[in-house]
Amino acid sequence: MKMILASNNKKKLIEMQTLLSELGIDVVSQRDAGCDFEVEETGETFEENAYLKASAVTAATGEIAIADDSGLMVDALDGAPGVYSARFTGNHEDTDEQRYLYLLEKLQGEENRAAKFVSSICCTFPNGDILRARGECRGSIAHAPSGNGGFGYDPVFIPENYEQSMAELGADVKNRIAHRGRAIRAFQEELRNYYADK
Ligand code: IMP
Repeated sequence: MKMILASNNKKKLIEMQTLLSELGIDVVSQRDAGCDFEVEETGETFEENAYLKASAVTAATGEIAIADDSGLMVDALDGAPGVYSARFTGNHEDTDEQRYLYLLEKLQGEENRAAKFVSSICCTFPNGDILRARGECRGSIAHAPSGNGGFGYDPVFIPENYEQSMAELGADVKNRIAHRGRAIRAFQEELRNYYADK
């Protein structure tokens, strides 16, 4: 089965390709499918934004599309940056490093470092059918960055039951324990039920 991934984030694309190839799904990037646009994430929830991205790609191509909308929710910041994780500093052009340093600055002196990553998956079909799944990964925000793996806030996120940051743990561990892998495994169940009902 082929699905078009509604994302222009190259590192997310690699993670999604790895995770979906385990389900026998051939993932084509939206750019390779001829969708040279960036969908504006105007939703207030991960679920709304994942739907906006997937449905735009299905509308443009007439093919099955899948999107992940994800982000970091920090308890001491009342769930921020949440859906604004990619725009936390206010400037979309800033680097991942600028964003996680900004987060560390905001949490300076804060003892409550609890946080979670969230991934919401939405898959849209040309006939209008929609499948959804969600995954979360709890952890805490470190006091300083470490590691070069992953992307985004991985260098400052220490998953529960681990002592190293997500960026130090490597791709195999991340795919096993992190939000996106969990969401994809929940999605696998949805997909199986969907085709079983056909
Ligand atoms: P999205 O492309 O709108 O889903 O942006 C999600 C943003 O959340 C990314 O730009 C990262 O800043 C952050 N994020 C999402 N998933 C991860 C992850 O697996 N590790 C670290 N940061 C992530």
